Amino acid sequence: MEEFPYRKKIEIDKPDRPRLPKETAVIEQIGCTGCEACISFCPVDCIEIVPGPVHPEMHKLVEVDLERCIGCQLCARYCPWETIEMWSWEEGVAVAPELTVRSLIYDYDALGADESAEMRVGPAGV
Ligand code: SF4
Ligand code: SF4
Repeated sequence: MEEFPYRKKIEIDKPDRPRLPKETAVIEQIGCTGCEACISFCPVDCIEIVPGPVHPEMHKLVEVDLERCIGCQLCARYCPWETIEMWSWEEGVAVAPELTVRSLIYDYDALGADESAEMRVGPAGV
């Protein structure tokens, strides 16, 4: 994997992971209910709550911090709505803008995904 292709939009003050994982989890936010079950299983606390697109206070979503996920698969196994997929690291980083359409952790503009994201879930921004 070459240089990490996304620019971080928000500061997350949590420890770095020791090494690049073989796999990474990507949230398909279209199917996320914001139940937060995945957060309780993540051993490195790298799933972040982000405001939802329509009612930011009432309906929240979650997003994986791709730079911190260790690929343990627990979140994907226990998501009751089966909306977390595991990908190889290279594939996950490439597909994240299409699945995590309302990313508040990363700026996906560099990959040209921002326009399609807004068409699917509404404008980004808190
Ligand atoms: S467990 Fe699944 S549905 Fe619940 S917040 Fe996590 S990704 Fe969304
Ligand atoms: S795969 Fe493991 S480390 Fe990555 S987000 Fe899911 S629970 Fe957290």
